Amino acid sequence: MRNWAGNLNFTPSIVFNPKTKEELKKIIKSAIEEKKVIRTRGSGHSWTGLIETNQIFLHLDDMQGVIEVNSKEQTIKAMAGTKLSLFGDESFKHNLSLPNQGDINKQSLGGATSTGTHGTGLRLQSMANQISALTMINGKGEEIFIDQTSPYFEAARLSIGSLGIISDITMKLVPSYKLKVNTFTENIDEAVKKCEERLHRNRHLEMFYFPVGDWSLTKIMNETNEEVSTKNLFHQFNEVFVENWLYRQLNKIASSTGKYKLIDKVMQSFVSPEEKIDWSHRAYPTERDVKFMEMEYNLPIDKFHSVFSEMRQAIKKNNFQTLLPIEIRFVKKDSIWLSPSFERDSVYFAIHTYITEDYRPYFDCIEEILKKNQGRPHWGKWHTLKKNDFLKVYPKFEDFMKIRNEFDPNGIFLNNHLKEIFGV
Ligand SMILES: Cc1cc2nc3c(=O)[nH]c(=O)nc-3n(C[C@H](O)[C@H](O)[C@H](O)COP(=O)(O)OP(=O)(O)OC[C@H]3O[C@@H](n4cnc5c(N)ncnc54)[C@H](O)[C@@H]3O)c2cc1C
Repeated sequence: MRNWAGNLNFTPSIVFNPKTKEELKKIIKSAIEEKKVIRTRGSGHSWTGLIETNQIFLHLDDMQGVIEVNSKEQTIKAMAGTKLSLFGDESFKHNLSLPNQGDINKQSLGGATSTGTHGTGLRLQSMANQISALTMINGKGEEIFIDQTSPYFEAARLSIGSLGIISDITMKLVPSYKLKVNTFTENIDEAVKKCEERLHRNRHLEMFYFPVGDWSLTKIMNETNEEVSTKNLFHQFNEVFVENWLYRQLNKIASSTGKYKLIDKVMQSFVSPEEKIDWSHRAYPTERDVKFMEMEYNLPIDKFHSVFSEMRQAIKKNNFQTLLPIEIRFVKKDSIWLSPSFERDSVYFAIHTYITEDYRPYFDCIEEILKKNQGRPHWGKWHTLKKNDFLKVYPKFEDFMKIRNEFDPNGIFLNNHLKEIFGV
C-alpha cells in the first residue's frame, strides 16, 4: 500500500472494503478479539503515518454516496468515504455547496475533516466546522451518534481516526455560489505589503511564494453573479501543460542539474495572469499531478510578518533550493479541540519540495522556526511533533485523550504514528 506521495509504503496482513456500518462493526469486533490494529484510508492523501499498518487496513471507497438531503436546514448526510468531488456534484444538484474548500477534491469526506483540511479566507473556517452530526463506530464496536448536543462533538469532528471509524457525516452547507478566480504574479515584498488590505477586502486570498526568484503567484477569489467562463484552449493548455507536465519537467531538470535560478525564471515566464468564473465546487479544486512532499503549520495570524521574514532569511542563509512554493493561507478560528485553528485566527505556511529532492534539511530548519512560534502542524502533513509538543499547543489535548481512552480502551486504532502523538 502507498499513499498519494509514495512516502508511505506498507503491507497490511488483511484488507477490507466495507460497504455498510454493520460490516464496520463486525471488523472492529473481530479486531478487538484478535488484538489487532485497524487503520482506515479515505483517499490516502496524507503524508503522515496515519493510515500505516501491517495489520488490518480498511478502504472506504465502497462507502460513498448521499444518504439524505434536508433542503430546509441546508444539510446533506453522506457516507464518510464519499469523495469531495462526488459530494460537490451531488450537493450542487440541490443548489447547495460547501462554504470553503482546499485546492483539490480527491479526498474523502471522512479523511478531509478528520485531519483539519482547510482552504483560505479570513472569515472562513476549516471543513470539519461544517459537520453538524456524524455516526461513528468506536473501538468497542458501538455505534454512536454525535451532534451539537453531544459532549463528544468538539472531539469527534476532528479526531485523526483515533476515536473510531466514521460511517456517515452530515454537513451544513450554503446555497450554491459562483467564484471569480484571479491569479497573477508579483514581487513577494509587494504581495506582503498588500496582504492585510487584500485579506479584508476579498473572500479568499492565497499566496504561493517562490523563494528562488522571490516572487509570488497570488490568488484572489470572490463571489460573483457573472456568467461561468468556458474553459478556452489557453486555459486548458495552462492547466494541463504548464501547471503539470511542464512543471514536472522543470522540476526534474532543476533537481538534477541544480540550475534553480535559471529554471525558476523560465517557469515564471510561463505564468500569465488569469481570470476564470465557475461554480465554487469546480472553482476551488486544481489538478495536482506533480508529486511533492509537504509540511504545513498553523500559526496565530499576528505572527505572519515576523515568522515569514525569519523563514525567508533562513532559506537564503542555508541556500535551500526548490522550485516548489511556500503556500500561505488564512483560516478563521474555531472551537474544535484538535483543530489547528482552535481559538485563534490563523495563518498557514505550507512548505514543499519536489518528490525526489531531499526535504529533511529544509523542513527541519523551517519546522524549528514554526515550532517555537506556537505552531500547530496540519495532521495530514509531514511533521516531527510528539505528545509533549501537542500538550503545549493544544489546551484541550488532555481532554481529548480522556475521550480517546474511553472510546478505544483496547487501543485498536493505535499504530506507531498515533502512539507517538498520544504517548502510549
Ligand atoms: C495534492 C494534495 C493537495 C492537498 N490540498 C490540501 C488543502 O488544500 N488543504 C488542506 O488542508 N489539506 C490538503 N491536503 C491534505 C489532505 O486534505 C489531508 O491529508 C486529508 O486527510 C486527505 O484525505 P483522505 O481522504 O485522503 O484521508 P487519508 O489520508 O486517507 O486519511 C487521513 C486520516 O483520516 C482518517 N480517516 C479517513 N476516513 C475516516 C473515517 N471514515 N473515519 C475515521 N477516520 C477516517 C484516517 O484513518 C487518517 O487518520 C492535500 C493533500 C494532497 C496530496
